[in-house]
Amino acid sequence: MGIKQNLLGFLNKIPKNVQLVAVSKTKPNEAVQEAFDAGQRVFGENKVQDLILKAPDLPNEIDWHFIGHMQTNKVKQIAPFIKMIHGVDSLKLLKEINKHAIINNRIIQCLLQFHIASENTKFGLSIEEAESILNNPEIANLKNIEIVGVMGMATYTNNTSQIRTEFRQLHEIYKLLKNKYFGNTISFKEISMGMSGDYQIAIDEGSTMIRIGTKIFGSRN
Ligand SMILES: *Cc1c(COP(=O)(O)O)cnc(C)c1O
Repeated sequence: MGIKQNLLGFLNKIPKNVQLVAVSKTKPNEAVQEAFDAGQRVFGENKVQDLILKAPDLPNEIDWHFIGHMQTNKVKQIAPFIKMIHGVDSLKLLKEINKHAIINNRIIQCLLQFHIASENTKFGLSIEEAESILNNPEIANLKNIEIVGVMGMATYTNNTSQIRTEFRQLHEIYKLLKNKYFGNTISFKEISMGMSGDYQIAIDEGSTMIRIGTKIFGSRN
């Protein structure tokens, strides 16, 4: 099947309140353009280098999401145009994003990434680490970032009950933070979880944003 059919098939079966981030990493601009022409506007990339090469040649209407591990020294390169950064895991990074958002006179949306998988290779915060960031008085000065929710990746496993438990844990973390820190912040509403292999479980467990690559663009090399 083609990209357009894959995309439309997907949009048909996911609930309307769940946003689809089309993960175009490693795919050529023609593939992104095909999805764009079929109506998709939100795309995700996980490498700064790839993103800054692709974005200028693609429509301005695209909302680019950075879904990879963000290095502080690379924020500058994507700050002029990035809509949302999913993988934020330190105060230092939030400050750097804020600094470059100010320079570009923009607000950049961020998600706090949590470590929910059993593999220790996946990045992300513990709840204690997140609370220490959110309790830091410096956070109030960061006017050009907007923390809009949480993000996480489940363990790469066939054990669906484990995946479900991990996604449920991320939803609990979201609720805890919402109650304690973001009660008056309407924009703190996103739970970014679910990929091609586990999006259905993620949706069942309250995902508001799924990040889909393979199931739209085909497998990667
Ligand atoms: C690659 C990637 C995805 C998409 O993965 P698929 O299995 O191809 O859907 C989602 N999230 C992140 C963080 C990724 O790196």
